[in-house]
Amino acid sequence: MFYLGKKKDFKVLKKHLLKFYTGNNLDIEKSDNGYYEVKIVEDIGDDITVKFENMELVKKLIESKSKFIFASYKPLKKYKHKLMVDNLNNKPDRRYKFLKNGKPKYFYPPEGFDGYVYVNRKAKYREKISRKKVSIGAIIFHELYECYFIVDKNIEYMAGAHDMAVNKEYLLLHKLSKFNYSNFTVGSTGKILVKRYYV
Ligand SMILES: [Zn+2]
Repeated sequence: MFYLGKKKDFKVLKKHLLKFYTGNNLDIEKSDNGYYEVKIVEDIGDDITVKFENMELVKKLIESKSKFIFASYKPLKKYKHKLMVDNLNNKPDRRYKFLKNGKPKYFYPPEGFDGYVYVNRKAKYREKISRKKVSIGAIIFHELYECYFIVDKNIEYMAGAHDMAVNKEYLLLHKLSKFNYSNFTVGSTGKILVKRYYV
């Protein structure tokens, strides 16, 4: 299941994550939990998900038994910090094994959710080396895929979730460039999306 923090996040999703995708398969519905659930209103055919890795991801999130929430206007209530990107899940994480009590509470998603991704839509993202701009759509795509792998596939961040999300980015960018979609930045080294931050 896939939720959005605010109604306006749906616009961000369509404008950035699903950039170049013109189909009208999705809509949102206000949920009892106060957030907006993304729903499939028109069948998303296999041909579409093969062409569009980004739509495939959205479909996976919607069809998952786990609950994901994405925000880009405002972080959800208790996460009001200055981070550009936040990516939290309810799974164990060996990155925190050196801490006495393991993963700290504030690294868990909001109650009722298994995964939480926040991407500040106003922040500017650049590659570490080439300094080229990275589109916000690519950032959202990466973070949501990573969260999906961790939560739904039980693959820890350190065990490959990050790398698998990068691989998905390769696929997406490759196809988009094939379709003459060049707005997603590819780095000069050929290694794409070496981001300024590492999440
Ligand atoms: Zn990552």
